[in-house]
Amino acid sequence: GVPLQAVGLLYQQGYFRQALDGDGNQLAFYPFNDPTQIPVVPVRTEDGEWLRISLEFPGRTLQLRAWRAQVGRISLYLLDSNDPMNSPADRGITGELYGGGAERRLQQEMVLGIGGYKLLQALGQEPEVCHLNEGHAAFSILERVRSYMRKENTDFGTALAATRAGNLFTTHTPVEAGFDRFSPALIERYLGRWASELNISMAQLLAMGCSHSNVSEEPFNMAWLAIHGSGFVNGVSRLHGKVSRHLFLPLFPRWPEKEVPVGHVTNGVLVSSWDSPESDRLWTEACGKERWREGLQSIGEAMLKVSATDLWEMRSRNRQRLIAWIREQHALNQPATNLLDPNALTLGFARRFATYKRPNLLLKDKQRLARLLTSTDNPVQLVIAGKAHPRDLDGQAMIREWIQFIHEFQLQSRIVFLEDYDLLMASYLVEGIDLWINTPRRPWEACGTSGMKVLVNGCLNLSELDGWWAEAWHADVGWALGDGQEHDADTAWDSHEADCLYDLLEQQVIPEFYQRNAHGIPEDWIGHMRNSMAKLTPVYSSNRMVRQYTEEYYLPMARAVRQRCAGNLAQAKAITAWKATLEQHWPSIHFGNLKTTSDESSYYFGSSPNGVGRLS
Ligand SMILES: *Cc1c(COP(=O)(O)O)cnc(C)c1O
Repeated sequence: GVPLQAVGLLYQQGYFRQALDGDGNQLAFYPFNDPTQIPVVPVRTEDGEWLRISLEFPGRTLQLRAWRAQVGRISLYLLDSNDPMNSPADRGITGELYGGGAERRLQQEMVLGIGGYKLLQALGQEPEVCHLNEGHAAFSILERVRSYMRKENTDFGTALAATRAGNLFTTHTPVEAGFDRFSPALIERYLGRWASELNISMAQLLAMGCSHSNVSEEPFNMAWLAIHGSGFVNGVSRLHGKVSRHLFLPLFPRWPEKEVPVGHVTNGVLVSSWDSPESDRLWTEACGKERWREGLQSIGEAMLKVSATDLWEMRSRNRQRLIAWIREQHALNQPATNLLDPNALTLGFARRFATYKRPNLLLKDKQRLARLLTSTDNPVQLVIAGKAHPRDLDGQAMIREWIQFIHEFQLQSRIVFLEDYDLLMASYLVEGIDLWINTPRRPWEACGTSGMKVLVNGCLNLSELDGWWAEAWHADVGWALGDGQEHDADTAWDSHEADCLYDLLEQQVIPEFYQRNAHGIPEDWIGHMRNSMAKLTPVYSSNRMVRQYTEEYYLPMARAVRQRCAGNLAQAKAITAWKATLEQHWPSIHFGNLKTTSDESSYYFGSSPNGVGRLS
């Protein structure tokens, strides 16, 4: 029920579609997503014309078409440059996600940030709070300032001071290389016009994308722009908040790291998108139909009371449905009946094949893994899926390594590598898998979300203590890998962790799954399931996340923007004047005759214990 709308790009080819050849080489395909075949409609103006947004580019005006997708109560607006009015090159701006070079990327980010904000204005909207999902959207800060300057007839500094309080920047990467950077020359070519419209110099505009040090040599960093233009900044898990305070330290020189103003809101998933029909039935019986619309406290308690029989039946049906689906998918390639066992412990690993996620950690000792997978007493099987970026050759080599392992050890009935991982496939996987494995190199998984999707279905997690799992893990909800420390890309440590992973599987996971009571139910496993479902599902849901953003950010921010704008921008003007005064007198600012006194717990500064301030 939070009034919210979203803006993005309509990618004509999306990311890419994956196929694998017989040797495990990844093939990339780029079929055209015909907008008339996907659930979007053109946005129309009052007189029925298709709404177009125009954007000034060097030597030309780019035309953007606007589409709308209705997602529940939320409108998602998508911009698209594939308009016959644009040049062939410009028509491809919204072609591929993660394709092209720096210039294409800059064009996409201008379309998203500047075009996106213009679109909202064309729809007659002026959002109080703008939530920037990653630095990609940060140009909206400049367009928001520009439109505010016009409306209030004020200068850049005052408009920034007023609107900045209404921008929230959520950072998603734990590595500095993840921030987009552009050369000052490229920025000047594309944004020179914006500098003059904002009535600031190019140097001032470039400074928005720089840390405080040597402005002239730095590339323009979108994360720095986002921080300079936002009142609030957050990371996406507790650990990622900490990592981000470190990454953003250059903007806060000489600050104690823990005081760098970056908070965190751990991500959550929309539970109702990921539960299977069987899980939905079980949760409805336990917690009612409206469970995800109300407070979350009572949900966990009700779940703790569900019987072992009901939980085990749900788990078994979920797994059987996944395996039936996989057999159907594979029916053309091989006799489907001996492909996977509907009653065997099923491990899953599905995510992008990026090296930091170590998708081949399980392959460190191939003999040991093969032994584990060919056991006849306690059968174990593995479902894998994931794409590597078309330019990431290391990631593609890891896919090949899996395919070759399957061939070499004749494991075709025990391991399935599913091609072309996407949301639909993810929905089957997170329903049916018993144990979801994640092996990122700490702290490079900012949050991770697929492990959250499996919770509602009673699947358990075995994961590196990184991202969300570093705060969610407890011995009664699943298994943890690693020592909670960073080891960088140390191959000796990788081998050690691989050994720990095999040990966990051999000594804990597999015996627990196959330890059955008189009714054939694995009681300890069910105990883990019940705790994981009851204690983690509500917490790692988007219900909790949206509530947290609303209460900790959106509402206070909306109040702050109103305050700054009230009384003919009195507060915004005061802030700008104060900054100008500081700047003007900076060289002569010094500490006066500072006196401190102390008692048992505090230091007092100023002349007396009742003086100016107290530090505990
Ligand atoms: C959830 C999801 C992801 C992200 O999973 P991570 O665990 O965060 O890597 C990637 N791809 C698809 C299709 C997903 O559904």
